[in-house]
Amino acid sequence: LRCSVCFRRNLSSSPSRLQSCMSAWVIDQYGTNGVLRYTEEVTIPTINSASEVMIKVYAASLNPLDVSMRGGYGAKLMKLRRDPFSVMSADNEFPLILGRDVSGVVVDCGSEVTHFTPGDEVWAAVPPWKQGSLAEFVTLTEYEVSHKPKLLSHIEAASIPYVANTALSALVNAGGLCRDNASNKRVLITGGSGGVGTFSIQLLKAWGAHVTVTCSQNAEGLVRGLGADEVVDYTAGDIAEKLETMDKFDVVLDGVGGDTEEYAMGLLKPWSGAKYVTLVTPLLLNTDSMGLLDGTLHAGFTLHSKAIQNILSNGVFYRWGFYAPDGPALDEVSRLVDAGKILPVVEAQFPFTQVPQAFQKLEQGHARGKTVVRVT
Ligand code: NDP
Repeated sequence: LRCSVCFRRNLSSSPSRLQSCMSAWVIDQYGTNGVLRYTEEVTIPTINSASEVMIKVYAASLNPLDVSMRGGYGAKLMKLRRDPFSVMSADNEFPLILGRDVSGVVVDCGSEVTHFTPGDEVWAAVPPWKQGSLAEFVTLTEYEVSHKPKLLSHIEAASIPYVANTALSALVNAGGLCRDNASNKRVLITGGSGGVGTFSIQLLKAWGAHVTVTCSQNAEGLVRGLGADEVVDYTAGDIAEKLETMDKFDVVLDGVGGDTEEYAMGLLKPWSGAKYVTLVTPLLLNTDSMGLLDGTLHAGFTLHSKAIQNILSNGVFYRWGFYAPDGPALDEVSRLVDAGKILPVVEAQFPFTQVPQAFQKLEQGHARGKTVVRVT
């Protein structure tokens, strides 16, 4: 007997179980790598609404968020987003599947899906409030999914969606940049050698911007190869001092956080609409530690007061950037990839049997692009 969805042989089950189970890496509690558990007994996420698309996962990739979520980061807010009516109940999110990127093939579509049909090769970034892509199947709404670039393998394609949706949301929605206005704008990217950085460099160069990157000395070749115009080694001396000698910037995309914002504000062009956008925000840490209401209010107050302080004292905008699911944005990225303007940067690949090793790789830090998992 074979399951008609995943085509896996099922030797022991009754026909009613044949279409119901898939393999996945799950967690049943928050913790360190030991909580990751492989199972073949996870219910297949079938189509539940007319706008959903069910995808057979060929490759997934990991992001720092996966390591954080494994440890419980963002649990309260994600729980609320997942199921607003049972947020007070214990452990309702388990078993939880991590993994935010997917490249795969559509196997089923809801009745109102218009852009996809079974057999289409697609890619997507799975929102953190949904079951992730470290599984045989994932189900998303049509709006979150996009046709995969034709030139990329599934492994390569899986390295892009989450960092692309993050970079586009941060640079466009918070940073005010787009294809039509970025030409010759001066952009500083801190943490340029990681997933978001390596993608953002290429996107901004495709849009005609001038890109300065901070990274370790041994990543200079990588970021220059992706198009960075100027590179500053943050490990050699006072980085603020070096950046202050350069012309001022229109946008800073901060993927490092910490004390970066203390000197970054002074690097922006004053009173000209320049924007500092950080991806390292306290929102989820606040809701985890203070609860949903107090944490959200506290984060809102922090953002508001920093925004006011910076516009008044420096004449620059202070903003937080967040990942946002956006299939149509990935369509645009797909065109840039197929035009050869954006390359995947896959640093490491792991088979599905070695998901814990992939997490260990990510936890070591010093990413040079992305870590991808071959699922099928
Ligand atoms: P990665 O782990 O892929 O990359 C981080 C990179 O930063 C590494 O290459 C690291 O290399 C480099 N780095 C570390 N310290 C510094 C420093 N002081 N100066 C310059 N470079 C440094 O992370 P991502 O690119 O995926 O994400 C970047 C940040 O954005 C993370 O904190 C992530 O959590 C956050 N993020 C937030 C999102 C949101 O919705 N708000 C969404 C996505 C990401 P090395 O240590 O060798 O220098």
